[in-house]
Amino acid sequence: MPSARIYARSEHVISRALISDNALKVLYRLRKANYQAYLVGGCVRDLLLGREPKDFDVVTDAHPDEIRAVFRNCRLIGRRFRLAHVHFGDEIVEVATFRGLNDDGEGNRQHGRDGRILRDNIYGNIEEDAWRRDFTVNALYYSIHDFSVLDFVGGMDDHKAGILRLIGDPEQRYREDPVRMLRAIRFAVKLGFTIHPSCAEPMPRLAHLLEGIPSARLFDEVIKLLLSGYSLQTFEELRHYKLFGLLFPETEQSLAREADDFPLVFLAKVLERTDERIQQNKGVAPFFLFAALLWEPVRILANAKMKKGDTDVYAYQEAASEVLNRQVRSVAIPRSISLTMREVWTLQPRLERIKGLRPFKLIGHPRFRAAYDFLVLRAETGEAEPELANWWTRFQGADEAERKVMTREGSNGLRTGARRSGTRRRGPRKPKAKKET
Ligand code: ATP
Ligand code: MG
Repeated sequence: MPSARIYARSEHVISRALISDNALKVLYRLRKANYQAYLVGGCVRDLLLGREPKDFDVVTDAHPDEIRAVFRNCRLIGRRFRLAHVHFGDEIVEVATFRGLNDDGEGNRQHGRDGRILRDNIYGNIEEDAWRRDFTVNALYYSIHDFSVLDFVGGMDDHKAGILRLIGDPEQRYREDPVRMLRAIRFAVKLGFTIHPSCAEPMPRLAHLLEGIPSARLFDEVIKLLLSGYSLQTFEELRHYKLFGLLFPETEQSLAREADDFPLVFLAKVLERTDERIQQNKGVAPFFLFAALLWEPVRILANAKMKKGDTDVYAYQEAASEVLNRQVRSVAIPRSISLTMREVWTLQPRLERIKGLRPFKLIGHPRFRAAYDFLVLRAETGEAEPELANWWTRFQGADEAERKVMTREGSNGLRTGARRSGTRRRGPRKPKAKKET
């Protein structure tokens, strides 16, 4: 190991007590089979911060077939990057072979016309493996042989200084894989690190390269960005670096309309709630987040359709289809999610009908609760009638007799008359009733 700086066990804070038993088993078993074995990537970075890693990645000089020979509970996966998954019940430890830098000329590394790496299965040694990783702090190796940390790229100094820096020439590394721009934002926000100026500067310029990334991969990245527990800050950074518009073009357009701050206030609120829920270990439904992200484009389009004479529910259905069809070109929201988003959207106009038997039917709808939560957020941020949201809050808490009174035709169901969809207040209003989402 020629050029690594080695941090001995006494010079870093990583202790085996913080490493999962299964990851340790994998490391020890590889060592016993006379292979090299290291933890690398996010887990080392997080362990150095004293945080519990979300998963453990192992690298070794054993090739995939050799890895499989060592572990019974192992499956080889991936085409773009071939690697092994060692299964322990719910936990998977990912084991990869050191990757090399040089093309072997046999098509094991394929570049697209734009310089993107499409396939990468060339094996190498640990130092080569380090150089092809993305950020210096993601290229630290924890050795199971002597418990030291190996650093080929200055990652330890950057880690101490709280700097997120690409390995090598930033522009070239972004061109190879533009998703690294999204990763830069995700890690900087999550770790509280600063993106090194040389890596921050090219981003707005190169943001358009995200257009060349398969929409399914962008969906996976967007999920990580939104469910990080720091989605609000992430969203702001993505906008700052002009990346957000590549992911959600129509949302970005609606946010850019300066005269109108509702969409921004609404989105900020939804993301803030999401982060709170994640920090409290409560579940978050991706459909709700995506429904919120695309609400403004859908709402505007639906209103335009209603002006042309479409009925409200129909207008929302059509607007939903059009907006979703365009959206999936950049970020491929799967159908399982988009079907539920549509339900939340099309329930919004239906929630305005509070007379007669309709509310009784609506409250039994499988998506009623989500749609109601959505309405409350709209009301809290000034786009929907707070009285309408309050009406539904009261309706849910009411007994049969009270509900009958509330829904009687001609009764004053709302404290003030509900507005027709499409009309709304300017600017946020103070919420009257706060409701958990
Ligand atoms: P976390 O899992 O906490 O989100 P991570 O750093 O482990 O963060 P992964 O996506 O699990 O991120 O990747 C594991 C490691 O693989 C990274 O730390 C990095 O070294 C390397 N890596 C991942 N994606 C890329 C990429 N696009 N380009 C270069 N290296 C990458
Ligand atoms: Mg990881």
